[in-house]
Amino acid sequence: MLRFASLGSGSKGNATVVAAGDSIVLIDCGFSLRETRRRLALLGLEAEQLSAILVTHEHSDHSAGVSRLARQVNVPVYLTQGTWNSGRLQGCPEVVRFNCDHRFHIGQLEVEAVAVPHDAREPCQFRLRHGGRSLGVLTDLGSVTSHVVERFRGCDALVLEFNHDLEMLRRGGYPPALKRRVAGDWGHLNNDQAAALLQQLGTEKLQHLVLAHISENNNCPQRAALALASVYGPLDERVVFAAQDRGFDWLGLPAVAGQGQPL
Ligand SMILES: [Zn+2]
Ligand SMILES: [Zn+2]
Repeated sequence: MLRFASLGSGSKGNATVVAAGDSIVLIDCGFSLRETRRRLALLGLEAEQLSAILVTHEHSDHSAGVSRLARQVNVPVYLTQGTWNSGRLQGCPEVVRFNCDHRFHIGQLEVEAVAVPHDAREPCQFRLRHGGRSLGVLTDLGSVTSHVVERFRGCDALVLEFNHDLEMLRRGGYPPALKRRVAGDWGHLNNDQAAALLQQLGTEKLQHLVLAHISENNNCPQRAALALASVYGPLDERVVFAAQDRGFDWLGLPAVAGQGQPL
């Protein structure tokens, strides 16, 4: 079984847990140590159970809690050279650098890093595989590239950024420069871009679809749902909304028969 959950999702902090057997990785950690431990406990986990921390990029909503957590539980931190060069991940006990588009293993999980257009040094997002199933975690990208479409096609579950509603962003109180940044090609996906990407990726095979990194200022679940419905049809039990304060609870992808360890 490939399982995943979130500690929180949005511009105030992100962390996603992905687990296969006793291989448990945290993708990003934008929370304090205390808050991370509290949120892990809500998912029935202790920080000491983590096998590794994967970092998508150095923005503080993804990186602020990484090095302190890694130091305390002594786990390796996986990141790109560019993310390392940002200087925001100093103090990690062990750093493993990977190149985008390489695949590597962390215990029973296979990890593929995919380069994305975002305003960080060398940002990436991840596709994780176990037991013949795959999960795409795809947030923090300002536009959709053919590379992203190719690499995330055919996922069994997807955590996808529905960051902002363009109209709400335009009318909202952000300074003009920040509005341009968020809406730009190296910012974040708006609801319509996310829906169009989903249409390109196809939704038939998806067992779970999580709408993530939803802006609390420039979006709301209703607007995101409306955009999604235009390509997805009526929303069903496969659709989950990630929240800033509690992420989302465990979701699972049972292994394809004959693949992976029965759990
Ligand atoms: Zn972010
Ligand atoms: Zn970011």
